[in-house]
Amino acid sequence: MTGHTVRGAIKLRRGREARARAGHPWVYAGEIEEVVGDPIGGDVVDVLSSSGAFIGRGYVNFKSQIAIRMLTWRDEPVDDQWFVRTLSKAVEHRRLIAPGCRAMRLVHSEGDGLPGLIVDAYDDCLVFQFLTLGMDLRRALLVPALMQLWGAKHAYERSDVRSREYEGLEQRAGFLSQPFDVNRSIVENGFRFMVDVERGQKTGHFLDQRENRASLAGYCEGRKVLDCFSYTGAFAVHAAGYGAARVTAVDISASALEQARRNAALNGFDDRVQLVEANVFDYLREKASSPEARGSYDMVILDPPAFTKTRHATESALRGYKEINLRAAHLLADGGILVTSSCSHHVDDYTFVQVVESALKDAGRRARVLEHRGQGRDHPVLAGVPETSYLKFLVLQMV
Ligand code: SAH
Repeated sequence: MTGHTVRGAIKLRRGREARARAGHPWVYAGEIEEVVGDPIGGDVVDVLSSSGAFIGRGYVNFKSQIAIRMLTWRDEPVDDQWFVRTLSKAVEHRRLIAPGCRAMRLVHSEGDGLPGLIVDAYDDCLVFQFLTLGMDLRRALLVPALMQLWGAKHAYERSDVRSREYEGLEQRAGFLSQPFDVNRSIVENGFRFMVDVERGQKTGHFLDQRENRASLAGYCEGRKVLDCFSYTGAFAVHAAGYGAARVTAVDISASALEQARRNAALNGFDDRVQLVEANVFDYLREKASSPEARGSYDMVILDPPAFTKTRHATESALRGYKEINLRAAHLLADGGILVTSSCSHHVDDYTFVQVVESALKDAGRRARVLEHRGQGRDHPVLAGVPETSYLKFLVLQMV
């Protein structure tokens, strides 16, 4: 897979060229008028307008609804050097936004011009997700190239994601380098965490909230904090480190809480971090109905999993957000702070803000917006490509 590797062309249907022309990286199967030559899955093809004008190049997978993922809009070869150059630009961007940071997302799929490739760095260990056939087929090129660019010693694969089915791929996980200890130590915003890259959720740690966690630095001093959906305690440890008097971390997963306990201890905060294994919906409902608990917290953090993976289930997701935000608002003292987040792709920023506002209204609370943020800059959002933006993050103070 070296040299110039264009294997045919795809002509788009008339009137269906605008999105690709505007720089959006997805071409749907239904938008294709004609396949020229006989490209097979993973091959790079020229993408042409209905009249045959060059639009760009991308790789194909005819098994997928998204039949082409665009790689370039320039008339340039898409060869091994192209992939290495694009990986190197991704690493360069990280060095610019967070010099010296060793635990961050290195490649964010479309956001880095490498659709279908996700790579998280945990210091000298890289965790790869190959989400599309086009990227899966290039693993032998991508893994060593990125390890070298980042100075990594270890690599692990966590392509155990459902969406690979849409690409005709099986789920896959395991070592991509010589076996090593899968419990990795990282530093995030000056705090230490252990990340289990084999059994952890996704690639092990939710790096997309790294900058948002740091944004809490000025708001935690002396506060009584409730961290809901705590997972391995990333927010809880930050809150304790930023001076919280007491933190209660709630999660439904016993193994996540066990790791949270270890992380709190690693930072010397075990005396201030308490762990509760519970369903957050039940926990909040019970607390919000108890007169002693109402108005007794200074900070409530809500960082739930995506409530919807499909567009159709958006309504029920919104009900979920409404419920937890309403209960959290009931639990907060005057001057208390609500930290609330959503990572559902199908709930946009405006809709999320509206749900939170309606929860505050129903709780009879007025609030000042302290922070209105999104995913960290190591998860780049492309202008004009709303699909690359998913994380919403608000910090509100009850006034
Ligand atoms: N706040 C975390 C990430 C949360 S991921 C961080 O900063 O790292 C979502 C977490 O919610 C997972 O740990 C999952 O176990 C937990 N979870 C999912 N549904 C839950 C529920 N109903 N009650 C409690 N925890 C839940």
